[in-house]
Amino acid sequence: MNLLGLDIGGTKTSVCLGDEHGVVRAARRMPTRVPDGPDLWHARLLQLIRELLAEQRLAASDLDGVGVAAPGPMSVARGLLLDPPNMSTWHNVPVVRWLGDALGRPVSINNDANAGGLAEYHFGACRGTPDLVFLTLSTGLGAGVIVGGRLLQGACDLGGEVGHHVLDANGPPCPCGLRGCLELFCGGKNVADRLRAEIVADNIATAILDQAGGDPAHIDFRAFADAARQGDAYAVKKWAEFVEHLAHGIGTLLMLYNPSAIVMGTIAVHTGEFLLAPLRQAVRRYAWPSAVDACRLLPSSLAAQGGNLGALAVAITGLR
Ligand SMILES: [Zn+2]
Repeated sequence: MNLLGLDIGGTKTSVCLGDEHGVVRAARRMPTRVPDGPDLWHARLLQLIRELLAEQRLAASDLDGVGVAAPGPMSVARGLLLDPPNMSTWHNVPVVRWLGDALGRPVSINNDANAGGLAEYHFGACRGTPDLVFLTLSTGLGAGVIVGGRLLQGACDLGGEVGHHVLDANGPPCPCGLRGCLELFCGGKNVADRLRAEIVADNIATAILDQAGGDPAHIDFRAFADAARQGDAYAVKKWAEFVEHLAHGIGTLLMLYNPSAIVMGTIAVHTGEFLLAPLRQAVRRYAWPSAVDACRLLPSSLAAQGGNLGALAVAITGLR
């Protein structure tokens, strides 16, 4: 099969040609340039696709299908990107119609987390596992939930929005309008922002600041994880809180979906057993032993190619 995959982000857009086995034959990328708006993006994108097809000696008619992975919120049925955060000039952008008109081939779209779940289902270490959850666990926190071999899309494309599962209705406000969402406690950017604010406000001496070169502006999740790994008392305490909140979210997923695997993205890929070992213990406070014992918690093996593979997996799913 010849599949075209597009991974749209606020910073860059990636385009790849690959097949149903997850082999990426060629890939290109371009800056998204949000301030220019979606129309100019569309023109540059079609040029890039033409170049990629020409380089591979393919015509658009040789493509079996096209898959798009993009930030939510979106309407999958209408093929629209609604109002992606960090993409302020994009409103109701008809990406699926644009690509369908230009290429004359079937086009499918889904959000990044769902695309990641489909990539794990089709290409990952747990491929073919019918009950599987992918947690992005990166800058933000989203999930792609596979139930009985199918993606859980939901009534209005919100299936798997576990990042806005409320852990504490009296907690800090979330940009989504709710309070105390899981993503506030476990999304990499939110964790780093909250630590930075606390370290500066209380003038805390911690190796997190050393890891950031002494500049609070450079505190990121990696500086936090590295300081915790070194045994810095403040970082270790905060790491335990992070693990506990994540265990709460994962325990809910275990009891709702009873998956045989939960595959986790960036943060789990970078921190490995330093995160996963205490997490496996902590989830026992939030789910029944049988649900915990039935589920493997593991890092994704697709990290580097995740965006491209997610888009290819969306294309495959659209053809079924
Ligand atoms: Zn929220």
